Amino acid sequence: MSKNIIIANWKMNLQPEEVKKLTSNIIKGIANNINESKKILCVPFLYIETAKKLINETKNVFVGAQNCNENKKGAFTGEISCEMLNSMGVKYVIIGHSERREYYYETDEIIEKKIFQLISNKMCPIFCCGETLEARENKSYFDYVDSQIDKSLFRLNSNQISKVIVAYEPIWAIGTGKVPQLKEIEEMHKFIRKKINNKYGKIISQNISILYGGSVNASNAKDIFNLPNVNGGLIGGASLNSNEFLGIVKELK
Ligand code: PEP
Repeated sequence: MSKNIIIANWKMNLQPEEVKKLTSNIIKGIANNINESKKILCVPFLYIETAKKLINETKNVFVGAQNCNENKKGAFTGEISCEMLNSMGVKYVIIGHSERREYYYETDEIIEKKIFQLISNKMCPIFCCGETLEARENKSYFDYVDSQIDKSLFRLNSNQISKVIVAYEPIWAIGTGKVPQLKEIEEMHKFIRKKINNKYGKIISQNISILYGGSVNASNAKDIFNLPNVNGGLIGGASLNSNEFLGIVKELK
């Protein structure tokens, strides 16, 4: 059975005092309402240590990162390696977010390299995929996601793919307040699971977590999380407000 997971993506936001307040409030809320879903706070690199200390041993809560470099080490000024993140206790890293694909020109090939680096450090990639508005409108969205998965995930072997968390994030829904219809979310998640089933078999496809991301909030989370092939969410804007985020968290058992 796929694990239920909620991921917070804080992006490039918050000052140190705000980080302390937000993390403490989230941890307090989660500690009062423990359930089996996994919660991963993907914070800016600079705040990993602070978040980790505040999370302490809270059950089912982990710190994650938002990016890593595709190389093992070397002359890559300003970059952070998987090994460095690993040494700080980070096990989960968002890879292939549409903002990185668009603003930092990350290709499917670079994303694949990052995934292999993470796997070789025994870490878990949170692999983001999802179509543009244009692909949605011209009805090529299945082909779009199909190609992203083929190019970045499908050279992993069965053991390796089992470490991956998939996040389906239609680009046009990220930070826009626009959410696909529930049936559109479900049909894409079902498509992704079937694709994984065809390549890796039933057990792996049933165990992989496929999350939805794009304008999830405390009001729409319940309906989205109740969809049969949705195993949780990747939350951007709403994860910066503890009440809103906790409202989402409580909808995923
Ligand atoms: C995201 O950035 O991955 C995201 C889902 O953002 P938002 O929730 O703000 O749409």
